[in-house]
Amino acid sequence: MKNFFLFLSLLLLNYNLFGQAPHLTGNVHIAMTTGQITCDFVLSKIPNLGKDYQILLNKGFNIKSIKDSANVTLEYDGFYNGKMKGEGLVYVPQVKDSTLINPKTLHITYTGAFPIYTDTLNFIDFKGLIAFNGKTLRAADQSKWYPVIYDVKADKLIEQLTYNIAITCDQAETIFVNGDLPKTGPKAIFKSDIPIAPLLFIGNYKTQQTKNAMFLNTNMNKRQLEIFEENIAEIKAYYQKILGSKYDKKNIFIEHQQVEKYNNGRSWGFVTFPVIAFAGLDLGSLVDEKNNRLKDTADYPFIAHEIAHYYFGNVLQPNSKLMWFFLESTAEYLSVKASEAKFGKVYSANYYAKTTKALKNYKAIPLNTIQDMSKINSTYRYNYGPLLLKGLEQVVGEQKTINFLISCLKSKNELTDYDFFKRNALKSGITESDWATYEKNYILSENVTSLIK
Ligand SMILES: [Zn+2]
Repeated sequence: MKNFFLFLSLLLLNYNLFGQAPHLTGNVHIAMTTGQITCDFVLSKIPNLGKDYQILLNKGFNIKSIKDSANVTLEYDGFYNGKMKGEGLVYVPQVKDSTLINPKTLHITYTGAFPIYTDTLNFIDFKGLIAFNGKTLRAADQSKWYPVIYDVKADKLIEQLTYNIAITCDQAETIFVNGDLPKTGPKAIFKSDIPIAPLLFIGNYKTQQTKNAMFLNTNMNKRQLEIFEENIAEIKAYYQKILGSKYDKKNIFIEHQQVEKYNNGRSWGFVTFPVIAFAGLDLGSLVDEKNNRLKDTADYPFIAHEIAHYYFGNVLQPNSKLMWFFLESTAEYLSVKASEAKFGKVYSANYYAKTTKALKNYKAIPLNTIQDMSKINSTYRYNYGPLLLKGLEQVVGEQKTINFLISCLKSKNELTDYDFFKRNALKSGITESDWATYEKNYILSENVTSLIK
């Protein structure tokens, strides 16, 4: 179950839906041989959050200075006994012992060095890790390699921004920043006028292209690329058909050498839309060239899950108490649907039989009582949550369940909590009485495995 290892992987909270996105300009220097990253950034168009904001920066960086728009050096809180938020240390600019109100523009310079994991592999890799492996550097938005503004009142990370930055990396053949195209090193300028999470993927690698996708650091032959492309197109077409909403963006697939010691056959992936990144996986080796398909039936749902994050993760950007349910359980449920369309009912029957067996003794907190998003742990979000959606399907039918998902995708700027679940269920045509049956038998149950057919 590769999807188990996608945990810790997704934080796609978007701010541009709620207001103006920040704009990042400046220079980045990366030394592949020492793992040192040095940034000189101006962050402008910071939303007006009054005093209710923080600046988060990966814990591995040391700040040289924070200056205001008049280039005056600011004092800041967090330099001593600092608080952490995820991967980041929390900094707050100060003026006369009080938080600088609505800074709008900040000039931040900092540097830090990160281990190069080669023969001694790390015990864990996840989306928030700044990963040097001697050949490439991967730094996703979640790592906070760039200053991420945290909106305290709304409890939101503003990870997506517009940018115009220059990146220098002496040893790099190719430099890629999500939102722009890969460019030849050692120095290149990257720009995005659309707010996006600027994931970095830099190093000695080649790029490959098909009509609808780009592949970084893969080594596929023409046939493998074609078959891979066909599978992605098929999955996208399926989602488009059932969800009635277009998926016409090109994906960028990244393959990179793991920095974590894996058991045989283990791999993991994450999404920073439109990037789908995999570690410990040779995409070409998934392809059965003779029979024109992916070798293992488990690879199709794995990729289908990641592709489903275009809808649940990008079109809808879940937040609030049921964030993980609306991000992961929906994507997993959809990947089962896509795989059923590919391999027939026998696929979904096996999937649910296996999951219910594995979760026989699982004790779930009912969704309507969840107050803290982290209570939906990885087993809940990837394995138990899809059973709750399957349960809804058993009560109201497949079409109404899909209509419910469509209704969720059409929502704008809403908190994805239990009220959101119920509201969209009713809005999509599920009757009050069916909802009451579903709620009583499935939601309120601490284990639905015996009900799943
Ligand atoms: Zn996922």
